[in-house]
Order: sequence, then C-alpha cells, then structure tokens
Amino acid sequence: MGDKNRDRELGMSREITRRDFLNGISIAVGTSLLANSTWLHAFGIPESPFAPEKDPSYYPPAKTGMRGSHDGSWEVAHDLRDGKDSAWANPVDDAESYDLVVVGAGISGLAAAYFYRKFAGQQSKILLLDNHDDFGGHAKRNEFQAGQRLLLGYGGTQSIEAPGNYSKVSIGLLKELGIEPHRFFKYYDQKLFDSMHLQEGVFFDQETFGANRLVLQKGLHYFGLTFNMENVAQMPIAEAARKDLLRLQHARVDYLPELTPEQKRRKLIKTSYKDFLLEYAKVHPDVVKVLQTSTHDIYAVGIDAVSAKDCAVNGFPGFKGMTLPKSHEQNPELDEPYIFHFPDGNASIARMLVRSLVPGTLPGHTMEDIVTARANYARLDDTSSPIRIRLNSTAVRVKHVGDADPDLSVKTAKEVEVTYVRGGQAHRVRGANCILACYNMMIPYLCPEMSAKQKAALAYCVKIPLVYTNVQISNWKAFQKLGVSAVYAPGSYFTNITLDFPVSMGDYHYPSSPDESCLLHLLRTPCAPGEDCKDQYRAGRFELVSTPFETFERNVRDQLGRMLSAGGFDPARDIQAITVNRWPHGYAYEYNELFEPLDRPASERPCVTARQPFGRIKIANSDADGHAYTNTAIDQAHRAVREIVETKS
Ligand SMILES: Cc1cc2nc3c(=O)[nH]c(=O)nc-3n(C[C@H](O)[C@H](O)[C@H](O)COP(=O)(O)OP(=O)(O)OC[C@H]3O[C@@H](n4cnc5c(N)ncnc54)[C@H](O)[C@@H]3O)c2cc1C
Repeated sequence: MGDKNRDRELGMSREITRRDFLNGISIAVGTSLLANSTWLHAFGIPESPFAPEKDPSYYPPAKTGMRGSHDGSWEVAHDLRDGKDSAWANPVDDAESYDLVVVGAGISGLAAAYFYRKFAGQQSKILLLDNHDDFGGHAKRNEFQAGQRLLLGYGGTQSIEAPGNYSKVSIGLLKELGIEPHRFFKYYDQKLFDSMHLQEGVFFDQETFGANRLVLQKGLHYFGLTFNMENVAQMPIAEAARKDLLRLQHARVDYLPELTPEQKRRKLIKTSYKDFLLEYAKVHPDVVKVLQTSTHDIYAVGIDAVSAKDCAVNGFPGFKGMTLPKSHEQNPELDEPYIFHFPDGNASIARMLVRSLVPGTLPGHTMEDIVTARANYARLDDTSSPIRIRLNSTAVRVKHVGDADPDLSVKTAKEVEVTYVRGGQAHRVRGANCILACYNMMIPYLCPEMSAKQKAALAYCVKIPLVYTNVQISNWKAFQKLGVSAVYAPGSYFTNITLDFPVSMGDYHYPSSPDESCLLHLLRTPCAPGEDCKDQYRAGRFELVSTPFETFERNVRDQLGRMLSAGGFDPARDIQAITVNRWPHGYAYEYNELFEPLDRPASERPCVTARQPFGRIKIANSDADGHAYTNTAIDQAHRAVREIVETKS
C-alpha cells in the first residue's frame, strides 16, 4: 500500500488532531498579537511588550501537539551555546531587586523559593525565571477534554517513587504542603485491571520479529522488576530462545562459578547485561532482541549500556543462582508499591508549591482539591506578591556585581545581576543571592568566570532524553477485549504502552469503564545502541530536535493500529488527541557504573565539584546530586538555601 493510502487509513489527515495541534500554535500567535492590546489597561495591568501570561486564554496544560521542551523554550539557550549572544549586550534594566533570584521553576527551583522563605521570612522577595511557558520543569500537567469531562495526564515527572526512602527534608516538604502519601492506597485502584482480567503483554513487530503479534503475559511488570515471561510458545522467536528465556527466569544457575561474590559483583559492574546474556548465560540472540529495550524505562538506553549488576539488583532474569554480596542497594520499588501517583504526576507537587508561594494562583488547600484546580497564570508574576514566577524567560548571564576583577567580585559583591531574554528582549534584574536550579550543563555559559574545574564538572552531566506521549482515545474496549492493560514492545518506536494509572481523588474520577474516553501513555527513549551511554544520549537528543510532531503522530497511529486492531481499535476513528512531551534534556545523568570508575565514592563524583557555591551563586536541581528524582531535586534545593543562610550568619 502506498504511503498516502496508509496515512489515510491511519487517520493522518483526520481533522480533530490537526485542529488540536494548530490550536497550540494559534494560542502562541494570539499572544504575540497582544503586544499593544487595550484590555490590559482595562484590568489595570501595566502594558508590556510581551505578556502572554496575562491573556485569559493562556493555559499551557491544555495545549496538545509538541510539548515538553516546546518550540520557543530552547532557542535562546542554543544561541547562547553557539555564541550568538551579541543581541543581548544591552539589556533593559527592569529596576527590580530581590532577596533571591532563582533560575529554573522546576520542583527544585520552587522548593528553593519555599525553603528560602521559610528561613528568611514571609516577606522575602523572590523571583523565579523559567524558559518554558509553564512552571514545573519536567513535572508538567497535560489536560484533555472528553465532552464535559476532564482527563489528566502527566507530561513528565511521573510519581512519588518510594516515599519511604525520602529524606526528612523532602518528605517534610511534601507533608507541609499537605501531601500524605499513604492516602494513595485509597486513591489508586490496585485491583481494577486484575478484576477485569487484564494482563501485561509483549508486542512483537513484523520488522524485528517477522510477525506482528501481541502475546499476553502474567507477571511481566513493565519496569522490568518481575520480568516474567511464561507464555513463550506464542513468541515469534527461535525455539532455543524460548527455552533460554525460561531457563533465565527459573534455573538457579551460577554463570560465574569460579568467582567469589565480591569478584562477581565487580565483574558484573563492568559487563553489560547484553554481554552477560550472550557470553556467560549463552542465550540465543533472539533473547537479546526480546530484552534489548527492557531497561529503557529506567535507564533510557538498552541492555548493551546497562551493567549486569544493575539488572541483577533490579530483578531482571538470569541471577537466581548467583550470590552477590549483600547490598543496601535493593531497588526501593521492590519494598513499596508504585502507586504514589497524582493524575498529573508530580505536577501536583509543583502546583502545590506554586499555590503556597504565590497567592491567588490556584484555589484550595488540600492534596485532593489541587487535582482539578485551574491555575490562573496571570497572577504568577504580579507586583503585589513578594514571590513572582516569570515564565518564557531564559537566563543568559549571571554575574556578581562589583569589582571588575571577577575573582575579587565573587568574594566582595553584595549583589548578583541576572540577565534573561523574554519575548526577544534582554532584561536584567538584581538579587542579593541567586540559586541556579537549572540544568548543570547550562551553568558554564551563564557564569563563564567559574573555575575551569567546576565548569568541566558541570559539563560532565549529559542529561538523558526521553519522550512521554499521551494519547486520548474514545474508549478502551480494545484493551478489554484483548485482555491487556500494559504492553512492552521491544522492537517498536514506542517501547512501552500503558493505560493511564487508575487513580481517582477529589473531584477527579478515573474513566474506569472501557466505554469511556481515556488516556494512553507511550514511552520512547531515543538512543544509539552500541555506543557509550553519553554518546547514546547525545544521539537521542539530536534525533528529538529533528523529529517533527507528524512523525510521532504517524508512529502512534501505526503502532496502536497494529497492536490493537484485533480488539476492534481503529486509529483513524478512535484517536482523539495527542500530546508529545519531548524532553531532550530529561533525567539527570546518573553515573552509569558500566562507564564510570569502579567503586568511586559518591563524594568524588563530578556533581559534587559541580555544585560548590560560587560566591552568592548557589546550585540546586536534581543534576546537583546525579539522581533523576523529585526527592533529590528537593534535597538539593534545601542544601543550596542552607548555603545562603549559613553564609549570612
Ligand atoms: C519524562 C520524565 C519522567 C520522570 N519521572 C520521574 C518520576 O516518576 N519520579 C521522580 O521522582 N522523578 C522523575 N523524573 C525526574 C525529574 O527530573 C525530577 O523528579 C524533578 O522533576 C527534577 O526537577 P528539577 O527542578 O531538578 O529540574 P527540572 O524539572 O529540569 O527543572 C529545571 C527548570 O529549569 C529550566 N531552565 C534551564 N535552564 C534555564 C535558563 N537558562 N533559564 C531559565 N530556566 C532554565 C528548565 O527548562 C526547567 O524548566 C522524571 C523526569 C523526566 C524527564
């Protein structure tokens, strides 16, 4: 069938998705036309050459199409990287000065503002700058409308993972905001899919495995934690591979019998899981094909770039008979269920922080009422509030104000000047202190006078690219008919496809009947198997910046069509909206031990050098501790604020 016919069959020309997509653009165009609008006066808001957030229709969570690091959010930073910064040489002075300027309004930046206010007092003047059109950093909310009904999805930061492992500081913050993790036991319906006899499945695609086939599995959890594939007979792989898969899962074989437990540990750290399977467990290559992308969800690379030891800790098959030294490194998810999930993911944490920081932005008081509360973006950057959040603003320069000699200035300055670009215009503000809660690798461009050693340590962090795509479908009867709720697809464009987490809380109700419109969550982590992991991340990022929305849409339609058509799913008819959350700079780099020095103490990781205070400039963000988690983002914010407070006293 020709490409055009196939596109028609998939519904590529279907109007509603196009309209949704264009809506995203029309809002952006509409906002730029606001430049000289008169209604701003009518509301008593001073006219600004660029004030899209003041438009009553400004509401980023409802945008569909390409989101995450959306167009308009990254260009200024890339110009800075490429040395095209001459246009910002003479910034407009905003004549604003703050106690603290925070660069980055993700969970870390918002938490930094929260902690600073707690230490320094209610009247603390704080400005937060963020380059995106919405706050929250990776913790973003996606909204969809199914008739009168609101459907919520998470555009990034998914869940409060293992809250039992949170530090006193991070769990303390959640509790102060009103978040009680134990309540999710009531809100997350852990029985729903079981009660409907839905299982997990593996989808084998024609191009990789010679046939399009969905094979149901019991006990295959898509985080790979209990990677149990019993139903091997239907898999389109070699007979030897089927036997090997069962052997890996069940046999208590020690594949390195000559080594002591400690020697085994060291060996497995420096052996990829792929090499372990082929060289030591001696499996058929088809087993590798099945497992290749099983690590994508946690590591965003395949088993060629993840150590066998990490896979052993995470419960992947092949290690039942191998005794490793006792470790405190157990995956915490094995102890706590993965249920601590707001319908919009940890965007609810960001929203609760904003509600606390800036009065009038979000109504309500509880972890339940935040879920359906609508944010008023016009209030974020309001002169009446001591804390202000300025979106669509990319910081391009952060320097101490004072002596011309930068070394002296770092020691003696009483203020920091922050230059940022908003609506194409450079501005500057001053702060007594500054916290950089933005990406580590951005900081050397903001503060070129930092030492070469610190800049190299900051640049060491190569952030991990990934894409979360939310797809609204008119009903999920096909899933019910096929008996599946989550699919692992080792050879396909999207490696994991799941029905949204079944969470109902406050006024939000999960669409628990298959007749109802619901959201699907699709994961893609672009990478280049065979390379060093950092090169894989760079290749993935390159892929993302050059992949248009249309390519994602075509793959969504094609893959869902192939997987679900036997259950009556028609991509042209049943897909209602698509939001692609593209994160070229996603997870913090987590020091992949396959490629890092063996047994280096945590205190000697480059992120420790990278996060050292630089005069009045301190460094937060999850990058600062090399862990892509919300608790790390909070803990690092707390540490950065403490550094300010301790210097003061
Ligand atoms: C897809 C995805 C899923 C995740 N899932 C989970 C999960 O389930 N659980 C979990 O605990 N963690 C998860 N994480 C990790 C997540 O990164 C952290 O939990 C946390 O949200 C990070 O917060 P942060 O504030 O440190 O960084 P970010 O969220 O990255 O915020 C930093 C902000 O600074 C902005 N910025 C950068 N440079 C500049 C500049 N020059 N000027 C202005 N602004 C700038 C960035 O654009 C961003 O908005 C996930 C991450 C991703 C990408």
